[in-house]
Amino acid sequence: MSLGKNLELLSNANGVAGREDEVRNLMVELLKPYADEITVDRLENVIAVKKGKKDTPKVMLAAHMDEVGLMVKTITKDGFLQFTKMGGMDDRVLLAQKVKVLTEKAQLPAVVGSKPPHIQKEEERKKVIQHDELFIDIGAASREDAKAMGVKVGDPVAFDVNYVKTGKDTALGKAFDDRAGCAVLIETLKQLNHTNCTVCAVGTIQEELGLRGAGTAAFGVDPDVGLALDVTFTGDVPGVREFDTTVKMGKGPALTVTDSGLVTHPKILRWLMDTASQNGIEYQLETGLMGTTDAARMSLTRQGIPSGTISIPARYIHSPAGFISIKDLENSAKLAALAVRKIQDYF
Ligand code: ZN
Repeated sequence: MSLGKNLELLSNANGVAGREDEVRNLMVELLKPYADEITVDRLENVIAVKKGKKDTPKVMLAAHMDEVGLMVKTITKDGFLQFTKMGGMDDRVLLAQKVKVLTEKAQLPAVVGSKPPHIQKEEERKKVIQHDELFIDIGAASREDAKAMGVKVGDPVAFDVNYVKTGKDTALGKAFDDRAGCAVLIETLKQLNHTNCTVCAVGTIQEELGLRGAGTAAFGVDPDVGLALDVTFTGDVPGVREFDTTVKMGKGPALTVTDSGLVTHPKILRWLMDTASQNGIEYQLETGLMGTTDAARMSLTRQGIPSGTISIPARYIHSPAGFISIKDLENSAKLAALAVRKIQDYF
């Protein structure tokens, strides 16, 4: 299947951090045709292996399957759902969003509500309504009614946004962080139909809660090199200073030089930059101070694993909907596959 089609399937699937099963099943199905072996480990990371020749480096490619979302915390006696956030999100993006409560039985359509602005006091209207003052309305009449609808404490809640292809090269949808990376992971493995080194394509869990799956998966896989496929925010919207980021959507994959958890190993950066230049792939360099990726955790696993990140520029990450360039996705996969092919020249 095409990269765009896979992105659509992955974006529309739900995998709020800690509840990645729907995405995991999809990943198994989509990775299977290109893998020699596929397993789901004990924490439910997906590991697809393409076996290489003996005595060649082993590379772990990681894309996280989870997305930021909400989780039911309490059910009020009037049938409203109070919630916690699963992953980092600005409280300002939550109010009035359409969401889906993912119960064991069904997906319940819902909206994030608040006390009506009409009756808020002057000073209340000026401040951000914190998430603990918001609630999810499923149209239940009471706590008993909500329970009868199948809701229980701990149920995940995902944003209700459908993928749509729009503009010349862009798509709008939810959870591009990191389903875009998942789609690139599949495409990379597809393009690596012949490779000398062993490639482990891993869909990781709970990245948004602290890079958790990447740590245990990297320990198990024990690769020589780690490469995270993730997204990064962009500065190509009004009000962003060049100092804060120069990354733009549609200008190619961004290579992380530093982020809050990683200074990329110089050899990794050289390997990726050389591959891009030699193949005429436009790329961007990124030095962010906020946010990190699975690469940070992989690099500190066991006795240390040189790791880096190919980041796909995506607008409005960690919010209900974002934009991404399909061309950037294609170039990210191309870069990852070409880099893996020549890994022996570097490691
Ligand atoms: Zn991410």
